[in-house]
Amino acid sequence: MLEHSLTELAQLLRTRELSSAELVQSCLERAERGHAALNCFISICPDQALAQARAADRLLAAGQGGPLTGVPIAHKDIFCTSGIKTSCGSKMLDNFIAPYQATAVARLAAAGTVMIGKTNMDEFAMGSSSETSYYGPVRNPWDPERVPGGSSGGSACAVSAGIVPCATATDTGGSIRQPAALCGVTGLKPTYGRVSRYGMIAYASSLDQGGPIARSAADAALLLTAMSGFDPSDATSTEAPVEDYQETLTDGIKGLKIGLPKEYFTPDLEQPVAAAVSAALQTLEQAGATVVEIELPHTHLSIPVYYVIASAECSSNLSRYDGVRFGHRCADPVDINDLFCRSRGEGFGAEVKRRIMIGTYVLSAGYYDAYYLKAQRLRRLLRDELRAALEQVDVIVTPTSPTTAFPLGARTQDPVAMYLSDIYTVSVNLAGLPAVSVPAGFSNGLPIGMQIIGNYFQEAKLLNVAHQYQQLSDWHTQTPAGWRQGA
Ligand code: GLN
Repeated sequence: MLEHSLTELAQLLRTRELSSAELVQSCLERAERGHAALNCFISICPDQALAQARAADRLLAAGQGGPLTGVPIAHKDIFCTSGIKTSCGSKMLDNFIAPYQATAVARLAAAGTVMIGKTNMDEFAMGSSSETSYYGPVRNPWDPERVPGGSSGGSACAVSAGIVPCATATDTGGSIRQPAALCGVTGLKPTYGRVSRYGMIAYASSLDQGGPIARSAADAALLLTAMSGFDPSDATSTEAPVEDYQETLTDGIKGLKIGLPKEYFTPDLEQPVAAAVSAALQTLEQAGATVVEIELPHTHLSIPVYYVIASAECSSNLSRYDGVRFGHRCADPVDINDLFCRSRGEGFGAEVKRRIMIGTYVLSAGYYDAYYLKAQRLRRLLRDELRAALEQVDVIVTPTSPTTAFPLGARTQDPVAMYLSDIYTVSVNLAGLPAVSVPAGFSNGLPIGMQIIGNYFQEAKLLNVAHQYQQLSDWHTQTPAGWRQGA
């Protein structure tokens, strides 16, 4: 039953062929198995989940509830959940129980979803492989010796393995799209401001954005409708009206103009990934789209610009973890400096410390102009370039990641190689644009993702194109051996 789409599940729940309690029970069993084999959860919450499922069943029995009532979901452990640990993948927050609910979580709960658990992730969302987690690395269900991508690797893994039909994730530089690509699922990073960041632990506030991971664009549309909207608690959330993203899924794409940036087809792009994206473009052309080459000449600057800005913002955001108010506190501090130094030294992992040091350096008085200010100028340039391109075309199509899932440990000793995993995704965050990754093929049994980038607030168009592609392809319906129903 976990291979059904959300619409099919809703139908089964509404007609009472399936109860939410049964569905949730089977997810919980799979979650335990997934936790043991793939390490995709940090917390699993059976008692709360079953209570929520029974409440959903009562609503459904009374003929009430909406399309998500009784549907199981997992939340990335970056979203605050009242009463349930929110660790952000860090020892620093291993003891943290948030006193309030993140808006995205609250909205999905109000829509009737049932939270199965909190998913594993790179520490403070810093990473591209889900290996920097204090709770150990997440494994890829397509090959457990490989990474699931990151930082939302736990969410992508849990959806890919059919443990839950959908999950939340966050994307600062690619963390929804890249793991979705490496795990063969659909992940949407909305326009900056579309989904409230309230209660979503901050990494780099001008880039962070929450969104859904699901098995198809149609499922992601349903989730996005429920998650989005203005929130008075997040000053950067937008008042732009929330669309019904499902309504436009079936629109034809005849006449759609697709831009193909030649700068994205670099020598480090694996040949099978390039071939899969070309084949997907042909499919879209058969549906009536036209493809034109576009230029994004400063693309090569996106990684350095991103790592200056993201590190600067993280050094400021993470200064709140000082051992005083919440989070890890060292034993027996002798004075306040000892308390700060040892609490932070013990609580943060190596990658987080590296980012804080880079960020502090680029913001320091002597280097601010040379690094931070310059990066901000280049950010504007990259944004303007994308904006200009999106005036010529409706959407831009690129690979999501230059490679398929790489082996565990392959890039942990080489931060720059790890950072380059996001070469095709970070510009979108720097510009604040929306983008979706959809499964577009396989290479040696490992999924390949295609990224579709749209203009501001054109999530409906992105989901429409993704859905039309999924009507003509079956990559998104494939499931990893060992995690198929009955397996
Ligand atoms: N891999 C990128 C980083 O480490 C992006 C992470 C993210 O999107 N949260 O910063």
